[in-house]
Amino acid sequence: MKNLWDPKEASQFEENSLQMRVYSSRLLGNNSDLVLHGGGNTSVKFQETNLFGEEEEILYVKGSGYNLATIEKNGFTPLRLKTLLKLVEVENLSDTEMVRQQKMAMTNPDAPSPSVEALLHAVIPFKWIDHTHADAVVTITNTPRGKELIQEIYGERLFIIPYVMPGFKLVRKVHELARNVDWNQYEGMVLLNHGIFSFAESALESYTRMIDLVSLAEKYLGKNSTISCTLPEDSVPVETGAKTVAQDSVPGKASFPEHSTLQTLARIRRKVSEIRGSAMLALLNYGPEARGFANLPNVKEIATRGPITSDHLIRTKPVPAVLDPENLEKSLENFASGYKAYFERQTNGQQTCLDCAPRWGVWPGKGTVAFGRNITESGIVSDIVEHTVKAIQHAEAIGGWKPVTEEHLFEAEYWELQQAKLKPRNDVRGVKNDTPEFEGKIALVSGAASGIGLACARELFEQGAVVVGLDLNPDISNILSEPGMLGIECDVTDQKAVSEAVAVTVRKFGGLDVLVLNAGTFPAGQTIEEMDEQTWSKSLAINLTAPQQLLQSCVPFLKEGIDPAVIFMASRNVPAPGPGASAYSVPKAGQTQMARIAALELGEFGIRVNIIHPDCVYDTGLWTPEALERSAKRYGLTVEEYKGRNVLKKDVKTKEVARMVCAMAGSVFAKTTGAQIPIDGGNERVI
Ligand code: ZN
Repeated sequence: MKNLWDPKEASQFEENSLQMRVYSSRLLGNNSDLVLHGGGNTSVKFQETNLFGEEEEILYVKGSGYNLATIEKNGFTPLRLKTLLKLVEVENLSDTEMVRQQKMAMTNPDAPSPSVEALLHAVIPFKWIDHTHADAVVTITNTPRGKELIQEIYGERLFIIPYVMPGFKLVRKVHELARNVDWNQYEGMVLLNHGIFSFAESALESYTRMIDLVSLAEKYLGKNSTISCTLPEDSVPVETGAKTVAQDSVPGKASFPEHSTLQTLARIRRKVSEIRGSAMLALLNYGPEARGFANLPNVKEIATRGPITSDHLIRTKPVPAVLDPENLEKSLENFASGYKAYFERQTNGQQTCLDCAPRWGVWPGKGTVAFGRNITESGIVSDIVEHTVKAIQHAEAIGGWKPVTEEHLFEAEYWELQQAKLKPRNDVRGVKNDTPEFEGKIALVSGAASGIGLACARELFEQGAVVVGLDLNPDISNILSEPGMLGIECDVTDQKAVSEAVAVTVRKFGGLDVLVLNAGTFPAGQTIEEMDEQTWSKSLAINLTAPQQLLQSCVPFLKEGIDPAVIFMASRNVPAPGPGASAYSVPKAGQTQMARIAALELGEFGIRVNIIHPDCVYDTGLWTPEALERSAKRYGLTVEEYKGRNVLKKDVKTKEVARMVCAMAGSVFAKTTGAQIPIDGGNERVI
């Protein structure tokens, strides 16, 4: 493990300052082999003078919920050390009370709640303290001879604490064991099955000790274990960033899951969502490490012994589901009943059972799958699983993977502080459920780089969906670039490119629920008599054949979707055509007819198909100020009058169309299919 301390950068900060604490905390936080997603914590102790002129020793410790990788000065909470040390002397304290008492020791009421491990930082008599859940160290302790191995590797350098769940009991344990110990003989402390502390009188030394100590564990693993990957030779990991997708991961190639695998993935996702009671994303990891793990003959047995550290439990649950390709539904139901049985075995009647859906799965032959209600949640699970898979194999090579017992797992998973979050609170009663409508849902929008398509992509995303947008414009990958969005450059008239883009969508997020068929073109006005053959056939290809082909590619996945919905972006020109626009209106009318038939064909699979007819939408690239001016002039109107040529005398914004599309894709239209909805400010010819 590399020491990333940069003397030049560090020299900007005062030796003994909170800014220096921020600097070295971030160094630790940015190394995923040390801490993952909010794990670990750091502290520093300063002498400060209070309002009354009294000198106090203050412990600045990481605030609860803050991430070391991105922490700022205000992420640290100042606490009176004297009060904390008094607290440590109390023999019995519930963790709820400990948290309350810690808050009362704060010298700044606006600071975040302190880490639940704050008292450990108080007990250790050093100025600078770093705590991580370093993979290598915890992996070694998660073996039958964990403690002996740690002693072999570190000699007398580390103070060793047996496993006790984080919280007041752990603080008391460390306090008790440290009574007759000279802390100065140690460079750090290892908490078996949990993590490691380093400490010193300077930030640099404490950080350096952490890196040196963890490096020793890594070296030991490097020497004594190699992870074997039993993969076919043609398997190459593929990054599915928008740019590499088109060239590298063509369905059918070994590097890309084949169509049937993707369909199965969508089925897995649907079943997991059903068990959880809400839509989940399913992130497939089919890289060589994940597949190598999933292919191990004893994977079912070793994968289900427990997590690296109890810190991961709230994200991953104690064990993954092991998917049986022969009987997927059954294997997921078995997971749920197994989880329920574990709860029943362990509960003392005081706890509330959490949902029974797995947070990750091992898919023999394919890899691992991480589940979550949104891209952040599933991404975190995916990262933890990547580390877990490695840790398990390393541990197996040095004596066997042996995390803490089921009792300990339950104790940590159903910790009173976690359970408290589930209880309804008086002050939030009556507040409406703020889960976004499309959370966990996966949407695909064609023609998403501008205008109505872009508005739809953004609105679906804002309402919680992950969104894939297709567009001819190569800039689409930058336009839709936030996590949970993917822009794919794609010519919708190229059937192969379209089916690849659909496959990429499922590969990336696990399925498909909402399809917005928006891509279209508005050809130059020509009467039937003067119609140019090119104009006609091109419009038909883009406005009629392309949506047919995209829908066709999506149907197998929509069938596995969660309350799946298709929306056709037709036009007011369908119910109220005008002269000179046959090349546009005829394929749009064809789309409408196709949608009606699709509604009939797909209803039995629960797929809703509806049609939207927008008009008077002028905030698109098509309608430049000049074009508006020209059109208004043709009718002898001002631009404002022209825009309000409808019953309500108001133009329609792209965002308003997008909101209508969301309504049609969501629960408002749950019982509506085959409908045609105008959004045009009211058109007399349509009414
Ligand atoms: Zn910890």
